[in-house]
Amino acid sequence: MTHGADRQALNVVMLGPPGAGKGTQAERLAKTQGLPKISTGDILREAVQAGTDLGLVARTTMEAGILVGDDVMIGIVRERLDREDARRGFVLDGFPRTVVQAAALDAMVDGRGPLVVLDIVVPEDVLVRRLATRRICSRCGVNAAVEWTGDCQKCGGSLIARIDDGVEIVRERLKIFLRQTKPLVDYYSTRSTFRSIDGNQPPDVVTARIGSAMDEACRSARL
Ligand code: AMP
Repeated sequence: MTHGADRQALNVVMLGPPGAGKGTQAERLAKTQGLPKISTGDILREAVQAGTDLGLVARTTMEAGILVGDDVMIGIVRERLDREDARRGFVLDGFPRTVVQAAALDAMVDGRGPLVVLDIVVPEDVLVRRLATRRICSRCGVNAAVEWTGDCQKCGGSLIARIDDGVEIVRERLKIFLRQTKPLVDYYSTRSTFRSIDGNQPPDVVTARIGSAMDEACRSARL
């Protein structure tokens, strides 16, 4: 289903552990729905690259695999959702990550249409394997597709591992996920617009399942 111009805003949240494929799927969904993909991890990495005040604050926290403070993150997302291109909706990747962030997001979207929440589920051993081989572009930051063998196929930059994808930091990120982000499933799961998706499938299969889950969730929200 593609979201028409005459419809209510389509607000989507992608939940799931690091390595679940949220970024890839959020990118695809945003494209098919004509909505901005808003990745808080990307926003922070850009700030680190640019050496802004935010980047200086975020850098050590990100490299340790722990979460940047709720107030900072809520401020970033509030400002981003206030921009014109997010009025018709958005696909959020990496936010919310705590119950405090989720409650703040509910307040931000109040009166802007329902929130569709897609939870991508992948077993932990698969995540650790995926993250150990994940590569991103050192120049534009895009996640490299598995079939890319040489440089970035978007901008030609060289492909590198993310510092926070090292085995020790991944274990820390997964622990943090279980402690701080997994409770969001309880927070959202009673809503009619919540859907779980098996993310332990090839990316195209996951994309197709997300398409069906979106259709169902939109029907139940009468979007
Ligand atoms: P990601 O690219 O989503 O895996 O995010 C990379 C890192 O950025 C995380 O490990 C956190 O340190 C930080 N980060 C991204 N989004 C958030 C958020 N919503 N709350 C707190 N920290 C975040």
